[in-house]
Amino acid sequence: MALNLIMLGPPGAGKGTQAERLARGRRLPKISTGDILREAVEARTEIGRRVEAVMKRGDLVSDEVVTAIVRERLNKPDARGGFILDGFPRTVWQARALDEIMGGRDPLVIIHFSVPEAEIVRRLGTRLVCGTCGTNAPGPATDSAGDAQRCRRCGGALVQRADDQQVVVLERLKVYHRQTEPLIEYYSGRPTFREVNGARPLEQVTADLVDVVDQAYRLATSTAGGVR
Ligand SMILES: [Zn+2]
Repeated sequence: MALNLIMLGPPGAGKGTQAERLARGRRLPKISTGDILREAVEARTEIGRRVEAVMKRGDLVSDEVVTAIVRERLNKPDARGGFILDGFPRTVWQARALDEIMGGRDPLVIIHFSVPEAEIVRRLGTRLVCGTCGTNAPGPATDSAGDAQRCRRCGGALVQRADDQQVVVLERLKVYHRQTEPLIEYYSGRPTFREVNGARPLEQVTADLVDVVDQAYRLATSTAGGVR
């Protein structure tokens, strides 16, 4: 049976990192809509050209376009044996479309990373990026001795990420609450929906994630072929 996993949670909850770890551990493709959109633009496919035009206008890529891209990706052979979706669905509209795409396939396992708002603001406010090579680094900006931290990769100076300024963070959280919280309601009644406390330390979250994914997967396996 395929492990078909989606991850929900606010920006700064660590979904991307956890998705990468789990994908490596289970040898599953990690499907990030952000990556696919960037690749489509670079490859200048038909969808890629549409996406580029939308982004040049400064608009968000529509539900229809993102969904078309996800549908195409999930139908590739490597995703037939399971996948980890990162960044999709973001809206109830997309979730309904995903249910349609998944028709006849193994049930979705849905993980929600819950993190208190104050913790998200704190985390995003301390997230740093190397001004030289662009590598991300966790905060704080100084080590315990009070010395400024340097980039682990190239030794460059670390600065705050432009999209992590307080006002931008609060705006992203507002968008998240408006769009994504109804998703949690949409999925929370399903037997394969699980919560992970994303406020715990990274290693602990990874361990918790493995536990709940295994639990939900066993449940999905025992009910496969039955009522969804
Ligand atoms: Zn660097």
